[in-house]
Amino acid sequence: MKKMLIACNWKMNLTTSESVALVQSIIEGIKNKKISPDILVCPPFTSIDAVSKVLKGTKIFYGAQNCHFESKGAVTGEISIPMLKELGCRYIIIGHSERRTYFFENDELVNKKARAVLASGLIPIICIGESLREREENRTFDVLKRQIEIGLSRIEPEYCVQIVIAYEPVWAIGTGVSAEPEQIQEAHSYIKKELIRVLGKRASSIIVLYGGSVTDENAQSILELKDVHGGLIGGASLKSDIFLSIIETANLVLA
Ligand code: PEP
Repeated sequence: MKKMLIACNWKMNLTTSESVALVQSIIEGIKNKKISPDILVCPPFTSIDAVSKVLKGTKIFYGAQNCHFESKGAVTGEISIPMLKELGCRYIIIGHSERRTYFFENDELVNKKARAVLASGLIPIICIGESLREREENRTFDVLKRQIEIGLSRIEPEYCVQIVIAYEPVWAIGTGVSAEPEQIQEAHSYIKKELIRVLGKRASSIIVLYGGSVTDENAQSILELKDVHGGLIGGASLKSDIFLSIIETANLVLA
């Protein structure tokens, strides 16, 4: 059976009390239901501890949206992997396009973070994807190739079971304009081939998510694509009814 992960990226939204309320309504919405996909919430750092307490005893995973690659030190304002691990985080999003754009994170830094997350035993969700300009200039595959080659360099193939990739075309993030299913399948198929080229055949087990304006309306056409193993969902994960409906769709696709 296809494995699927439905991951939420709440970004810089929700105070601690708002995060708790949202996660409580997600728990309420799936209560007594058989849920086939894995579900992951990535709240802001300040909400992780409170959210973890509400999630105790449920099957919902939680994680962080970023981390530093050093385990400690004089790096004001940053959060280390051991800090997140102690809170019980299972996943850490790495290289989100907003971090690449606003905080100038490049593929080398993404690689340092990914290797540190893997070494700690946690799962990096490594985000890749082209900008609108890169797509218009027919450079999508070149960009994905570079991001995979550098972002996943010096990673031992045995880590393949612990890696998640999120294909997130930058032009589709937060714009309300998702990529078309054909564009998504084409990119995912290319990504899978590149992962195998760089990491060897064990990479065929790597989960590749799609992210970029996923909603309850387009979720089915995206999640049923052959090489899509779930979604990384921003805006639509902030409203429990829409998010619950996406989970319902994932359940149907996996049925
Ligand atoms: C994201 O931030 O990873 C994302 C995909 O956002 P949205 O769903 O709002 O496009």
